[in-house]
Amino acid sequence: MKAWENNIRQVVPYVPGEQPQRPVIKLNTNENPYPPAPGVQAASKGMDTDCLRLYPDPDCTALCTEIAASYGIEKENVFVGVGSDDVLATAFLTFFNSGKPVLFPDITYSFYRVWADVYRIPYETIPVDVNFRLHAEDYYKENGGVIFANPNAPTAICEPLSFVEDILEHNRDVIVIADEAYVDFGGESAVSLLEKYDNLLVVQTFSKSRSMAGVRIGYALGSRALIQAMENVKFSINSYTMNQYSLKIGIEAIKDKQYFEDTLAKIIRTREMSKKRLEALGFICTDSKTNFLFVTHKTRNAKEIFEALKEKDIYVRYFSTPGIDNYLRITIGTDEEMDMLIRAVEEILN
Ligand code: PMP
Repeated sequence: MKAWENNIRQVVPYVPGEQPQRPVIKLNTNENPYPPAPGVQAASKGMDTDCLRLYPDPDCTALCTEIAASYGIEKENVFVGVGSDDVLATAFLTFFNSGKPVLFPDITYSFYRVWADVYRIPYETIPVDVNFRLHAEDYYKENGGVIFANPNAPTAICEPLSFVEDILEHNRDVIVIADEAYVDFGGESAVSLLEKYDNLLVVQTFSKSRSMAGVRIGYALGSRALIQAMENVKFSINSYTMNQYSLKIGIEAIKDKQYFEDTLAKIIRTREMSKKRLEALGFICTDSKTNFLFVTHKTRNAKEIFEALKEKDIYVRYFSTPGIDNYLRITIGTDEEMDMLIRAVEEILN
């Protein structure tokens, strides 16, 4: 072993869902099956070469202003990043420095552990209950910060606002992060609590509800002090995280409220219909407030169904994590895609 090998940062990286580079029915990474708002498509066509030649606005003023306006807050309360993964990673680095363990559920977005590890942040995972529910009392203990996804992933379950407020009431001296990547699909957002709690950071994304996973735009909403602290860390690593293209088309996405509402309604309708059909085939589904279903079959093995679907070029997500290793996470596609999925599942079960 070479001496320098001892000084390499050892990390076990996050494993993203497969991105097959050929046409398949892709229900494995919670992308939106519908295109982004028409304004986004129009603005994409009108990009000039200055967009390529010049550095983007490092403060992302126009995009932050538009996001702030849509929530009735100030641009100083908004931080944007390269997907919410970038925003969350920046938040971990900025806020979790006490040396005390950061708390998060044992079944949740698996990136939380990875960021904690890569930044050498101690953490403690809190077990979810047998129905995958989170309980605020479990987060009353001394800690270096709290983070949870609400709705949670991959369970799809949303805890009520009273849960978030209970956690905030009992954690006044640390930063509490609500990761709301999926909240637009029927969850209750903690944005309304921002005025009351200056230690709350709400993180959302354009990847799911705004059909822009490929562009990478995420954002955090919080008090001026929290946002300024994140800006300071960002400007200490890379001032130009957001490219010209994202900044320009992100504005168009946030402006079109009607298209946004219509797309959400379609996905929610398809979700509820698909859930009924899967239940009729012997699956048990959690109460999803997201753009995916989290399902287990009463008698058949999830991994086998996952592999059999893949044989048919239908990709869903399977996690070998103990406690959820007999579940599948199925992204809601179009009605046609869900129909093909359900017909394929029927064949596999027979
Ligand atoms: N939070 C949760 C709970 C997620 O499932 C995801 C998607 N993998 C993200 C954050 C990150 O999404 P993005 O970086 O595309 O905004």
